[in-house]
Amino acid sequence: VLLLNNPVQRLGFTVNLAATAVASSARVFEIIDTFDELADKADAHSLEHVQGNVKFEHVSFAYREGGRPTLHDISFEAKPGQVVALMGPTGSGKSTITNLIPRFYDPIEGRVLVDDHDVRDLAIQSLRQQIGIVLQDSFLFSSSIADNIRYGRPEASDEEVIAAAKAARAHDFILHFSEGYQTKIGERGVTLSGGQRQRIAIARALLLNPRILILDDSTSSVDTETEHLIQQALEQLMQGRTTFVIAQRLLTLKNADQILVLDAGNVVQHGTHTELLAQPGLYRTIYDLQLKDQEESLVEEQRA
Ligand code: ATP
Repeated sequence: VLLLNNPVQRLGFTVNLAATAVASSARVFEIIDTFDELADKADAHSLEHVQGNVKFEHVSFAYREGGRPTLHDISFEAKPGQVVALMGPTGSGKSTITNLIPRFYDPIEGRVLVDDHDVRDLAIQSLRQQIGIVLQDSFLFSSSIADNIRYGRPEASDEEVIAAAKAARAHDFILHFSEGYQTKIGERGVTLSGGQRQRIAIARALLLNPRILILDDSTSSVDTETEHLIQQALEQLMQGRTTFVIAQRLLTLKNADQILVLDAGNVVQHGTHTELLAQPGLYRTIYDLQLKDQEESLVEEQRA
C-alpha cells in the first residue's frame, strides 16, 4: 500500500461516506480523523438538486499559513457533465486542485463554487455526498465484495449492487470466486489485483451516483484486456457527471472538454487537445516527449 500524504488520495471513496453516517469500519474513521476537518459555518446550507457546475475564481492556495502558495490565481469553469483533464509535471498542483472541490482545504484567495455556491457556505457533508472519488489505489476494507460495493449506500438492494458491478465490468470476475459477492477480501480473504480493486471502487461510486467525480486515469500494471475493461467502466461512470481527471493518457486528454495544463501551481495553458497541440507550449512539449508513443498504439488499435 502506498503511503499517501494527500487527503483525496488517502480517503479515496471514503469522502462520500463520512457523510452517510454508516456505522461501519472503524478504520475509515481513523483515516478521516488523521487530518483536521474544516468546520461548517453556523449558517451553512445543504446542497440540494445538484447540477454539477464547478467554478474556480482566482483561487490561490498554500498548504501552510503564510507559506509559499501551491496554486496561483486559478480560474476556470466546468459546466455540468463536462470532463476537465488536469495535466502537468509532478508537483505542479493537479491533486491540490482536486483537494479544494470537496473542501479539504480552503483557498487563501478567491473562491471555489459548486452550482454558484461558495463551498465555504455549504454543509460539508452535503457537498461531499455529491463527489465521488476513484483513484488507482482506492480504499477497500476487510469484508465481503458486496459490502465493499454497498459501502456508501448500505440500504442498496442486491440487484442494485449487481447492476453497479456489471456496469463497472466487475461482475464476471466476482462470479469466478466460489462465494461470488460474499467473497471476503482483505486480510482474511482473497487478495484482489489492482485492476479488480479499481473496478470495485468504480462499482461503489456508481452506486453512490454523485454529480461530481474526481478520478485518475492511471491503471496499475494490468494487461491490455483489463485496461480495456477499466476504461469502459470509467467511461460509464463519467457519463453525465462533471469529472476532474488527473490525466496520463492521450485518450483521456483527447476526449476531455477542457484541459488545464499546470506548471508550478499556475495554469499555463487551457483548451482542448486540438487547440493545445496547435500552439507551442508545455502541452506540445509533453506530447512530443511522452504522449506521441500512445498515439501510435491508439492508431494501431483503431486499425485492429
Ligand atoms: P503528482 O503528479 O506528483 O501527483 P501533482 O501535480 O498532483 O503531482 P500536488 O500533489 O498537487 O501535485 O502537489 C503540489 C505541491 O504541493 C507539491 O510541491 C507538493 O509537494 C505540495 N503538497 C502536496 N500535498 C501537500 C501537503 N499535504 N502538505 C504540504 N505540501 C503539499
